[in-house]
Amino acid sequence: MGRIKDHWRHWVSSGQQRASLAASLLDGFPGVAMLVNGDGVILYVNPGFERYSGHPAHTMLGRRITCLDVDPLHGDIGRALAHSVTRRAAWRGVLTCRRADGRVTHQQGVFQPLETRSGDPLRLLVTLQDITALHRGAVDDHHRLSALQDTVDRLPGVVFQLRQSVRGDLAFCYLSAGLQALAGLSSRDAMESAETLLARIYDEDRQRLNTSLAQSAVSLAPWSLEFRLAQGDEVRWLEARATPRRQRDGDTLWDGVLLDITARKEEEQRTQTLVRTDMLTGVLNRRAFFDYGEAVRALAARHGRSVPLAMLDIDHFKRLNDTHGHAAGDLALQAFATTCRDCLRPYDLFARIGGEEFAVMLVDTSPEEALGVLDRLRSAVEALELDVQGACLRVTVSLGLAVIPPQGSLDFALSQADAALYRAKREGRNRLIVAPGYPTAPERLR
Ligand code: GH3
Ligand code: MG
Ligand code: MG
Repeated sequence: MGRIKDHWRHWVSSGQQRASLAASLLDGFPGVAMLVNGDGVILYVNPGFERYSGHPAHTMLGRRITCLDVDPLHGDIGRALAHSVTRRAAWRGVLTCRRADGRVTHQQGVFQPLETRSGDPLRLLVTLQDITALHRGAVDDHHRLSALQDTVDRLPGVVFQLRQSVRGDLAFCYLSAGLQALAGLSSRDAMESAETLLARIYDEDRQRLNTSLAQSAVSLAPWSLEFRLAQGDEVRWLEARATPRRQRDGDTLWDGVLLDITARKEEEQRTQTLVRTDMLTGVLNRRAFFDYGEAVRALAARHGRSVPLAMLDIDHFKRLNDTHGHAAGDLALQAFATTCRDCLRPYDLFARIGGEEFAVMLVDTSPEEALGVLDRLRSAVEALELDVQGACLRVTVSLGLAVIPPQGSLDFALSQADAALYRAKREGRNRLIVAPGYPTAPERLR
């Protein structure tokens, strides 16, 4: 390296050699090189001038350099010249020029004031290199990118890139503008701090999100999750789907989409409600009672608690139907169900499991308390007066009460409650009978 430098220094050491070096550099320069004075008048052009500018060299000598500009009066060449002359400093930038044949080109230009002895007039070396193809490519890329950005921002959802560091920190590298419509949040805010968005996810869903992301990060399997987002007083259901990849530094990056699935979820919930509701009375149906009942039993068993469970059957209902008609019977069933529901807490299970047979499961209630609750219910039904076409209808109900012990089964407790109900009927109706072994003192209440 040092030897090459020495060689170079030696070669340019004499004035003559310097001149020949300068000439060969200008000859070989793959573009336009000009010498202009402080007014921009062209004093010299290199041999490549004609080829690269399209203008015959002799037509340009003595003319102002601004005539190469696509806008000779107000274009950038005038500004570049003024900059270099007033500041005695180099100007670099892209110029829009017009060739002799009228074609517009983009030139990478440099205006370099040359060192002169004091008193000598100012000279500038101006070089132009055609970058039209590069420039056009860049402009095309820019148009394509902004068209793509526009499309992404108009998608009915959000395109995102989520990064999780090895330590587990989450950050959004990208969120498209759709976040505003989806979550009422600016994507810039959420990119600055992922918590702006994540903190609004429901707690239990956030836990599922963390777990499912961790699984996807380990297995690199696609990630998908449905979760709820609080938006003011409303709930938004979102669905995320993304593909993970591992970065060199160990971080995991997910590219994905977020979609608003609130309408679909609400439809699903409406359907679920229909599937689980008894159409006549609006209370749970038989199937829902067994599904939810099993969940209540399992939860109570985990906490070592027993669950009181009762079967209810309206007394002499056939007689009511026969006397007042089936429509009056239906009204009585509805009034009965409403009265019972009103005597219970919202989270107790109350279901119509047959024609005029109902079942109750009392959540978080001791066997002793259950007796009180159900006897109040029986009294409320007894007090019910139903005005049907001038006639005052009254009904009573018989109840059989049992308990599901922590290790017991729902079916067995139901059969015990049913047997107790049968006894209540036999012993005169409108009463509550507890199953044998029920963990409290009185066996019968009236
Ligand atoms: P018990 O006191 O022994 O229970 O007498 P009951 O008449 O209530 O008993 P039973 O089981 O013999 O009769 C039940 C009646 O309930 C028969 C049926 O017509 C009536 N029923 C069942 N489902 C409906 C319904 O959806 N609407 C009406 N109106 N009646 C119904
Ligand atoms: Mg019956
Ligand atoms: Mg009956």
